[in-house]
Amino acid sequence: MKSFKIVLGDITKVKTDAIVNAANTTLLGGGGVDGAIHRAAGPELLEECRKLNGCPTGEAKMTKGYRLPAKYVIHTPGPVWQGGGHHEAELLENSYQNSLRLAESKGLRTVAFPSISTGVYHFPLDAAARIAVRTICTFLETSDSVQEVWMVCFDERTKQAYEKAATEWKSIS
Ligand code: ADP
Repeated sequence: MKSFKIVLGDITKVKTDAIVNAANTTLLGGGGVDGAIHRAAGPELLEECRKLNGCPTGEAKMTKGYRLPAKYVIHTPGPVWQGGGHHEAELLENSYQNSLRLAESKGLRTVAFPSISTGVYHFPLDAAARIAVRTICTFLETSDSVQEVWMVCFDERTKQAYEKAATEWKSIS
C-alpha cells in the first residue's frame, strides 16, 4: 500500500532511502535545509557535489548520503519566487517530479522532501504546498518502485499548510 505522510521534524534525522535537498544551482551548499544536510552528512558530500557541475533549477541530481541515516541525497534547486510570472509554479513542480523520477529510476522505495522554495526562496507557502501534494500524489498513483513519500516540515505553520493542501487534494481527486 503506497502512502504519503506529512510529519514535523528535521529531515537530516530521517531514515528513508533518499532525502531531497532544497539546494541551489551550484550544489555547493548554502543555508537552511541545504546547510543542515551538508553539516550532518559530513565533508564527503561536498566533495561528491563538486564533481556534479551544478544543477539547473527544477532538475535533480543524486549523491550518496554519507553520515546521514538516509542512503542517498537527491539535490534539486527549487525556483526563487520572483512574483509568479517567471514560471515559478512549473519549476517547483519540476523539482518534485524530477526528484521522484530519479528515485524511481534508481529503484528506491522511500523518499522524504523538505518544503522546497518556501524558505529563503520565498515561494508562497499555500501555493507551494498545493503543487507539492498534487505532484507527489499523482506520481504515487503510477510509480512501481517508490512506495512511500514523506513531507518533513520544520515548523508547525508549514505542516498545517501541507495538511490543508492534502485535505483539499483528497476532496477533489
Ligand atoms: P529554499 O531556499 O528552497 O527556500 P530553505 O532551506 O530556505 O530552502 O527552506 C526550505 C524549507 O526547509 C523551510 O520550510 C525551512 O524551514 C525548512 N528547513 C530548514 N532546515 C530544515 C531541516 N533540517 N529539516 C527539514 N526542513 C528544514
